Amino acid sequence: MIHPGGSSEPLIEVEKLCKIYRLGNHAGTSLNLQVLFDVSFTIRRGEFVAIMGHSGSGKSTLMNILGCLDTPTSGHYRLAGHDVSTLSGNQLASVRNRQIGFVFQGFNLLRRMTALDNVAIPLLYAGYSRAESRRRAMSLLQQTGLEKFVMHQPGQLSGGQQQRVAISRALINQPQLILADEPTGNLDTQTSHEIMQLFDRLNREEGMTIVIVTHEEDIAAWTRRLIRLKDGRIIEDRPIAKPVVPLSKS
Ligand code: ADP
Ligand code: MG
Repeated sequence: MIHPGGSSEPLIEVEKLCKIYRLGNHAGTSLNLQVLFDVSFTIRRGEFVAIMGHSGSGKSTLMNILGCLDTPTSGHYRLAGHDVSTLSGNQLASVRNRQIGFVFQGFNLLRRMTALDNVAIPLLYAGYSRAESRRRAMSLLQQTGLEKFVMHQPGQLSGGQQQRVAISRALINQPQLILADEPTGNLDTQTSHEIMQLFDRLNREEGMTIVIVTHEEDIAAWTRRLIRLKDGRIIEDRPIAKPVVPLSKS
Protein backbone atom coordinates (compact mmCIF):
# COMPACT_ATOMS: atom_id res chain seq x y z
CA MET A 1 0.00 0.00 0.00
CA ILE A 2 1.30 3.46 -0.84
CA HIS A 3 0.73 5.91 1.96
CA PRO A 4 -0.16 9.51 1.28
CA GLY A 5 2.85 11.80 1.11
CA GLY A 6 5.26 9.00 0.33
CA SER A 7 6.99 8.33 -2.97
CA SER A 8 7.09 4.78 -4.22
CA GLU A 9 10.67 4.15 -3.16
CA PRO A 10 11.07 2.29 0.15
CA LEU A 11 13.42 3.86 2.67
CA ILE A 12 12.76 1.57 5.65
CA GLU A 13 11.81 -2.08 5.17
CA VAL A 14 11.46 -4.16 8.30
CA GLU A 15 10.45 -7.77 8.15
CA LYS A 16 9.52 -9.94 11.10
CA LEU A 17 11.68 -8.01 13.54
CA CYS A 18 12.02 -9.62 16.93
CA LYS A 19 13.91 -8.26 19.89
CA ILE A 20 14.72 -10.31 22.94
CA TYR A 21 16.59 -8.74 25.85
CA ARG A 22 18.75 -11.25 27.66
CA LEU A 23 18.48 -10.46 31.33
CA GLY A 24 21.09 -12.97 32.52
CA ASN A 25 20.85 -16.29 34.29
CA HIS A 26 19.06 -17.33 37.40
CA ALA A 27 19.40 -20.79 38.95
CA GLY A 28 20.63 -22.25 35.68
CA THR A 29 17.86 -20.85 33.46
CA SER A 30 18.36 -17.81 31.29
CA LEU A 31 15.93 -14.97 31.71
CA ASN A 32 14.79 -13.43 28.47
CA LEU A 33 12.34 -10.67 27.76
CA GLN A 34 10.89 -10.50 24.27
CA VAL A 35 9.70 -6.97 23.50
CA LEU A 36 9.16 -7.04 19.70
CA PHE A 37 7.27 -9.82 17.90
CA ASP A 38 7.38 -10.15 14.10
CA VAL A 39 7.18 -6.42 13.41
CA SER A 40 6.93 -5.77 9.66
CA PHE A 41 6.30 -2.59 7.68
CA THR A 42 7.68 -0.45 4.89
CA ILE A 43 8.16 3.31 5.08
CA ARG A 44 8.68 5.10 1.78
CA ARG A 45 10.73 8.22 1.17
CA GLY A 46 8.78 11.32 2.04
CA GLU A 47 6.44 9.67 4.54
CA PHE A 48 5.58 11.26 7.89
CA VAL A 49 4.76 8.53 10.39
CA ALA A 50 3.71 8.38 14.04
CA ILE A 51 4.42 5.35 16.21
CA MET A 52 2.08 5.13 19.19
CA GLY A 53 1.54 2.70 22.04
CA HIS A 54 1.46 2.52 25.80
CA SER A 55 4.59 2.82 27.87
CA GLY A 56 6.56 -0.44 27.61
CA SER A 57 5.02 -1.45 24.28
CA GLY A 58 8.42 -1.44 22.56
CA LYS A 59 8.40 1.94 20.79
CA SER A 60 11.88 3.01 21.88
CA THR A 61 13.28 -0.45 21.22
CA LEU A 62 11.90 -0.24 17.68
CA MET A 63 13.22 3.30 17.18
CA ASN A 64 16.68 2.22 18.39
CA ILE A 65 16.70 -0.51 15.76
CA LEU A 66 15.43 1.85 13.04
CA GLY A 67 18.13 4.32 14.11
CA CYS A 68 20.89 1.70 13.91
CA LEU A 69 21.58 2.16 17.61
CA ASP A 70 20.70 -1.48 18.22
CA THR A 71 20.19 -4.64 16.17
CA PRO A 72 17.21 -7.00 16.14
CA THR A 73 17.50 -10.50 17.60
CA SER A 74 15.96 -11.82 14.39
CA GLY A 75 14.29 -10.46 11.29
CA HIS A 76 15.54 -8.07 8.65
CA TYR A 77 15.98 -4.35 8.36
CA ARG A 78 16.82 -2.74 5.04
CA LEU A 79 17.59 0.97 5.08
CA ALA A 80 17.72 2.57 1.63
CA GLY A 81 17.99 -0.91 0.13
CA HIS A 82 20.88 -2.09 2.30
CA ASP A 83 20.48 -4.83 4.89
CA VAL A 84 21.64 -3.22 8.12
CA SER A 85 20.42 -5.93 10.51
CA THR A 86 23.74 -7.73 10.35
CA LEU A 87 26.22 -4.83 10.41
CA SER A 88 28.94 -4.50 13.04
CA GLY A 89 29.00 -1.67 15.58
CA ASN A 90 31.36 0.48 13.52
CA GLN A 91 29.42 -0.03 10.32
CA LEU A 92 26.18 0.85 12.11
CA ALA A 93 27.76 4.02 13.48
CA SER A 94 28.73 5.06 10.01
CA VAL A 95 25.22 4.51 8.61
CA ARG A 96 23.79 6.36 11.58
CA ASN A 97 26.04 9.38 11.19
CA ARG A 98 25.51 9.73 7.46
CA GLN A 99 21.86 8.87 7.06
CA ILE A 100 19.90 9.51 10.23
CA GLY A 101 19.11 12.59 12.30
CA PHE A 102 17.91 12.02 15.87
CA VAL A 103 15.64 14.17 17.99
CA PHE A 104 15.02 13.27 21.64
CA GLN A 105 12.48 14.15 24.29
CA GLY A 106 15.16 15.73 26.49
CA PHE A 107 16.81 17.71 23.62
CA ASN A 108 20.27 16.29 24.51
CA LEU A 109 22.14 19.55 23.90
CA LEU A 110 25.59 20.34 25.29
CA ARG A 111 24.97 22.84 28.06
CA ARG A 112 28.16 24.87 27.85
CA MET A 113 28.00 25.43 24.13
CA THR A 114 26.11 27.99 22.12
CA ALA A 115 23.16 26.98 19.97
CA LEU A 116 25.40 27.57 16.95
CA ASP A 117 28.11 25.17 18.13
CA ASN A 118 25.56 22.56 19.26
CA VAL A 119 24.27 22.46 15.69
CA ALA A 120 27.76 22.61 14.14
CA ILE A 121 29.21 19.74 16.18
CA PRO A 122 28.30 16.81 13.90
CA LEU A 123 30.05 18.58 11.01
CA LEU A 124 33.15 19.28 13.11
CA TYR A 125 33.26 15.55 13.94
CA ALA A 126 32.88 14.78 10.26
CA GLY A 127 36.03 16.81 9.58
CA TYR A 128 34.64 20.09 8.25
CA SER A 129 36.38 23.35 9.18
CA ARG A 130 34.98 25.39 12.04
CA ALA A 131 34.06 28.21 9.66
CA GLU A 132 32.19 25.97 7.23
CA SER A 133 30.47 24.08 10.07
CA ARG A 134 29.29 27.33 11.63
CA ARG A 135 28.15 28.73 8.31
CA ARG A 136 25.93 25.72 7.70
CA ALA A 137 24.72 25.68 11.30
CA MET A 138 23.76 29.34 10.97
CA SER A 139 21.75 28.65 7.86
CA LEU A 140 19.82 25.84 9.59
CA LEU A 141 19.14 27.96 12.67
CA GLN A 142 17.71 30.61 10.36
CA GLN A 143 15.43 28.02 8.79
CA THR A 144 14.18 26.91 12.19
CA GLY A 145 13.54 30.51 13.27
CA LEU A 146 16.39 30.89 15.75
CA GLU A 147 18.64 33.44 14.05
CA LYS A 148 18.41 35.75 17.08
CA PHE A 149 19.47 33.01 19.48
CA VAL A 150 22.56 31.49 17.89
CA MET A 151 24.87 32.70 20.66
CA HIS A 152 22.59 31.53 23.50
CA GLN A 153 23.40 28.47 25.53
CA PRO A 154 20.65 25.86 26.07
CA GLY A 155 19.94 27.12 29.61
CA GLN A 156 19.09 30.53 28.15
CA LEU A 157 16.51 29.10 25.76
CA SER A 158 12.92 27.89 26.22
CA GLY A 159 12.11 24.20 25.76
CA GLY A 160 10.67 24.84 22.30
CA GLN A 161 13.76 26.80 21.27
CA GLN A 162 16.02 24.04 22.57
CA GLN A 163 14.08 21.49 20.54
CA ARG A 164 14.50 23.69 17.44
CA VAL A 165 18.25 23.68 18.07
CA ALA A 166 18.13 19.89 18.37
CA ILE A 167 16.16 19.59 15.13
CA SER A 168 18.67 21.87 13.38
CA ARG A 169 21.47 19.63 14.65
CA ALA A 170 19.61 16.55 13.40
CA LEU A 171 19.42 18.10 9.93
CA ILE A 172 23.00 19.25 9.55
CA ASN A 173 24.37 16.07 7.99
CA GLN A 174 21.57 16.16 5.42
CA PRO A 175 20.14 12.85 6.62
CA GLN A 176 17.64 10.76 4.67
CA LEU A 177 15.58 10.14 7.78
CA ILE A 178 14.61 11.97 10.97
CA LEU A 179 13.76 9.80 13.97
CA ALA A 180 12.20 11.59 16.92
CA ASP A 181 11.36 9.71 20.15
CA GLU A 182 8.66 11.70 21.98
CA PRO A 183 10.00 15.04 20.69
CA THR A 184 7.18 17.00 22.32
CA GLY A 185 7.12 15.01 25.57
CA ASN A 186 8.70 17.86 27.57
CA LEU A 187 6.81 20.71 25.91
CA ASP A 188 3.53 22.49 26.59
CA THR A 189 0.66 22.09 24.14
CA GLN A 190 1.18 25.29 22.17
CA THR A 191 4.93 24.69 21.83
CA SER A 192 4.34 21.04 20.91
CA HIS A 193 2.19 22.12 17.99
CA GLU A 194 4.83 24.64 16.87
CA ILE A 195 7.40 21.84 16.81
CA MET A 196 5.00 19.61 14.85
CA GLN A 197 4.41 22.48 12.44
CA LEU A 198 8.18 22.58 11.86
CA PHE A 199 8.30 18.80 11.21
CA ASP A 200 5.31 19.17 8.90
CA ARG A 201 7.11 21.86 6.90
CA LEU A 202 10.31 19.76 6.68
CA ASN A 203 8.21 16.88 5.40
CA ARG A 204 6.16 18.87 2.90
CA GLU A 205 8.75 21.28 1.60
CA GLU A 206 12.00 19.34 1.91
CA GLY A 207 10.52 15.89 1.41
CA MET A 208 12.15 14.73 4.62
CA THR A 209 11.09 11.28 5.82
CA ILE A 210 10.09 11.63 9.48
CA VAL A 211 9.16 9.02 12.07
CA ILE A 212 8.06 10.21 15.49
CA VAL A 213 7.02 8.40 18.64
CA THR A 214 4.28 10.04 20.64
CA HIS A 215 1.74 9.30 23.35
CA GLU A 216 -0.66 11.98 22.21
CA GLU A 217 -3.33 11.54 19.54
CA ASP A 218 -3.34 15.26 18.66
CA ILE A 219 0.41 15.11 18.01
CA ALA A 220 0.05 11.96 15.89
CA ALA A 221 -2.69 13.78 13.95
CA TRP A 222 -0.01 16.00 12.39
CA THR A 223 1.50 12.98 10.64
CA ARG A 224 0.09 11.04 7.71
CA ARG A 225 0.31 7.50 8.97
CA LEU A 226 -0.18 5.83 12.32
CA ILE A 227 1.54 2.63 13.42
CA ARG A 228 0.29 1.43 16.80
CA LEU A 229 2.16 -1.08 18.93
CA LYS A 230 0.74 -3.13 21.76
CA ASP A 231 2.96 -5.43 23.80
CA GLY A 232 5.53 -5.51 21.01
CA ARG A 233 3.12 -6.23 18.15
CA ILE A 234 1.65 -3.95 15.52
CA ILE A 235 -2.09 -3.72 16.12
CA GLU A 236 -2.84 -0.86 13.73
CA ASP A 237 -1.18 0.64 10.65
CA ARG A 238 -3.28 3.14 8.72
CA PRO A 239 -3.17 6.46 6.90
CA ILE A 240 -4.33 9.50 8.83
CA ALA A 241 -7.11 11.41 7.13
CA LYS A 242 -6.36 15.06 6.30
CA PRO A 243 -7.01 17.82 7.05
CA VAL A 244 -7.08 17.13 10.75
CA VAL A 245 -5.24 19.62 12.84
CA PRO A 246 -6.48 23.15 13.20
CA LEU A 247 -3.51 25.27 14.22
CA SER A 248 -3.84 26.26 17.82
CA LYS A 249 -4.86 29.88 18.12
CA SER A 250 -2.03 32.35 18.60
P1 ADP B 1 8.37 2.17 25.17
O1 ADP B 1 9.35 3.08 24.52
O2 ADP B 1 7.18 1.84 24.32
O3 ADP B 1 7.94 2.67 26.53
P2 ADP B 1 10.61 0.32 25.43
O4 ADP B 1 11.00 -0.10 24.07
O5 ADP B 1 11.45 1.35 26.10
O6 ADP B 1 9.06 0.75 25.44
O7 ADP B 1 10.57 -0.94 26.38
C1 ADP B 1 9.85 -2.13 26.05
C2 ADP B 1 10.16 -3.18 27.11
O8 ADP B 1 11.52 -3.58 27.02
C3 ADP B 1 9.95 -2.71 28.53
O9 ADP B 1 9.40 -3.77 29.26
C4 ADP B 1 11.34 -2.39 29.00
O10 ADP B 1 11.46 -2.56 30.39
C5 ADP B 1 12.19 -3.40 28.26
N1 ADP B 1 13.54 -2.91 27.96
C6 ADP B 1 13.86 -1.80 27.27
N2 ADP B 1 15.18 -1.67 27.13
C7 ADP B 1 15.73 -2.75 27.77
C8 ADP B 1 17.08 -3.21 27.98
N3 ADP B 1 18.13 -2.53 27.50
N4 ADP B 1 17.24 -4.35 28.67
C9 ADP B 1 16.19 -5.03 29.15
N5 ADP B 1 14.90 -4.68 28.98
C10 ADP B 1 14.67 -3.54 28.30
MG1 MG C 1 10.06 4.97 25.01
